[in-house]
This record gives sequence, structure tokens and C-alpha cells, in this order.
Amino acid sequence: MSASLPFFRYHPDPLASGSIRAAAETCACCKRNRGWIYTATFYTAHEVNGRFCPWCISDGSAAERFAGEFTDSYGLDGVSEEVLHEVTRRTPGFHAWQDPHWLVHCQDAAAFVGEVGYTELAAHPEALDQLGTDMRLDGWHDENQLEHFLTHLGDGATAMLFRCTVCGTHLAYADAS
Ligand SMILES: [Zn+2]
Ligand SMILES: [Zn+2]
Repeated sequence: MSASLPFFRYHPDPLASGSIRAAAETCACCKRNRGWIYTATFYTAHEVNGRFCPWCISDGSAAERFAGEFTDSYGLDGVSEEVLHEVTRRTPGFHAWQDPHWLVHCQDAAAFVGEVGYTELAAHPEALDQLGTDMRLDGWHDENQLEHFLTHLGDGATAMLFRCTVCGTHLAYADAS
């Protein structure tokens, strides 16, 4: 069934991430029951009675009708206007403790893979290294504390894993309540 869902370049598996789920629910935009519904963030000043189907996300109609965005543009630096619009207005967001944001690599938005713990993150050493480096820059100067935080990801705090759409490198940021 999922083969018929629209493809999202910057969020290729929204079923795995839980952003889109099977549901017999009427879409707040097209008013049709398509069998699938979007469950994550949408920012708008308008009142929206219900949730959206993946098709109204993909073609931009939900974002346009309600003048909203699925993801904040925070962090999307150095990408083209076109990419910025595709990520914020035509790509499903995801569930996170803090406001979700997108990572950038090779001057393009990266594709969101999912929320992961240490084991899954360690399978991509480059992402683990990059996250550690970012956290040191953020003020984590105690290496033991940093090591403890990273190895306990998945137990409280988690990592949001992305994959560069150009070079394939994995990258991540940490999310905590
Ligand atoms: Zn719809
Ligand atoms: Zn890259």
C-alpha cells in the first residue's frame, strides 16, 4: 500500500518515522479519506480542523491553503529558495521533543532518516563524530560527560538522524525533553 504514497525527497520513509500513519480519516485540506494521515508538526496562524493526507503535503496545497509550514526554516542555511520551500511546505515534519529542524550538507537539505539511539547512531561513525564535535562547540567540555550522554542516547535523549542527499554522509543532532 505504501508504494502508492507520494515520494518525499527530504523525508523518504515517513511511515518508519511515524510521521504518516494508516488511518481512515478525512483530510482537513482536500476533505477526502485517502487511508493515510500526517501526524507531526504544522505551524500556522489559521485554525485547522483535522490533519492532512500525504498528497496535500506533497503538492503544497495544505501549506498554501493554511499559510503554514511543516518545519521551521531554522538551520536551513545556504540552501536554495526552492529547497527551503520544499522542506518547509511540501515535506512531512517529524515528532521531536524540541521544535524539529532540518540539517544541511553539501549545500542541500539532508533527508530525515529517523529518531535513533546510540546503537543505530554508532552504525554511522561519521554522524557520531559530527554530533560529538557539535556538542563540544555547544559547550560540552567534559569528555566523560559527553561520552556518557552519547552512549546513553535512546534512553531519554535521542538523536535525529539525517542522510545527505548528495554525498550520502549521515549526520545528526541531539534532541531531549
Ligand atoms: Zn488531502
Ligand atoms: Zn553531503
